[in-house]
Amino acid sequence: MNKLTIKDINLKGKRVIVRVDFNVPLDDHLKITDDRRIQASLPTIQYILGQKARKVILMSHLGRPDGQAINDMRLRPVAQRLQELLGERVLRLEDCIGDTVQKAIDTSSERVILLENLRFHKEEIKNDPNFAHQLALLADIYVNDAFGTAHRAHASTEGITKYLPSVAGFLLETEITYLGKAIQNPPKPFVVILGGAKVSDKILLIENLIPKANAIIIGGGMAYTFLKAQGKKIGNSICENDKVDLARELMVKAKAAGVQVALTEDFLIVESFDKPQGRKIVKEIPDGWEAVDIGPQTRASYKKVLATAKTVVWNGPMGVFEINEFAEGTKEIAQYLATLKGVTTIIGGGDSAAAITKFGLERAMTHISTGGGASLEFLEGKELPGIVALRDKEGLVAR
Ligand code: AMP
Repeated sequence: MNKLTIKDINLKGKRVIVRVDFNVPLDDHLKITDDRRIQASLPTIQYILGQKARKVILMSHLGRPDGQAINDMRLRPVAQRLQELLGERVLRLEDCIGDTVQKAIDTSSERVILLENLRFHKEEIKNDPNFAHQLALLADIYVNDAFGTAHRAHASTEGITKYLPSVAGFLLETEITYLGKAIQNPPKPFVVILGGAKVSDKILLIENLIPKANAIIIGGGMAYTFLKAQGKKIGNSICENDKVDLARELMVKAKAAGVQVALTEDFLIVESFDKPQGRKIVKEIPDGWEAVDIGPQTRASYKKVLATAKTVVWNGPMGVFEINEFAEGTKEIAQYLATLKGVTTIIGGGDSAAAITKFGLERAMTHISTGGGASLEFLEGKELPGIVALRDKEGLVAR
């Protein structure tokens, strides 16, 4: 990676402000239902403390408060959980900028401080320079460890870097290393699995990967737009009619580039989502029926393609995996990936990551991205503002 990380600079005696992603899911009683995002930040926090930094000041957003201080979106539950995980006291503040915040940091005995939800200030999302400067005044060094928001130029991801030496934390470094390798220099054969609901979300991704991939597997809801482009009957399956021509063009481009495209060959169909008991496997989708998962023949074909791979990137589920009766295709492909030896398996964030978690296969994958939108944009080949803004390692050119 060509960006400086916390390992490259002297942190001793410094006040270090870290952008983390503590946007955790909360239930109706404001209890955290999944603390993995907090756990994922621990290596960076512990390393900074181990280097004898004076203070670690953590900042994050939670939910979408739209510039208002909303009680249910306060970071109180996060502070409590972080304290338990770290085994040391965490000072939680009621705001993220201003004199009171500054004074509390200067006079606190705690080494770890958690600022209040950044998005209580509308200036955060607007990347307001004054707001970014106020955040910067709290510290000597800035660390970005929030990959999930790195594709947004916000005050805490981009604006602040104009005022402080800015480096990557371990979580960000891992994301850049794995995703970067996948798009720049993947061990070949390189196979991309694409799924999910819409073609329109993945067009740039497909275009960027065609010159790099050896094979592209297309499943999930987006497959039906491609199948329609091939003249197949798709019944009531999800389809973007205005993208049918584009799907055809993408297949032509892939063929011209010598990239194998594997499409769905058989289908799990239902008459409606709420009648899973009437589901059946077919090779041709009759009128009035909707395909919700890939069938067994397709799974076998996809596995044959995957068996040749040295690198796999997966973005988007193979079916409506949230409903157990429609999750088999996604599950079988995930389980197969888990058995592959000597293969780098990279799971794009969002729904694909949720599927891997649902099947308990997290540990079997090489890397599961923590950012849905961010990983998609990275794999599309875009420069993410939160990464670009960090300092380059000397002598290297920015990505
Ligand atoms: P995306 O966010 O584009 O990755 O899409 C993920 C969503 O696609 C999930 O919520 C799936 O339920 C949905 N999906 C996958 N396959 C299908 C399908 N055959 N029909 C309708 N939705 C699907």
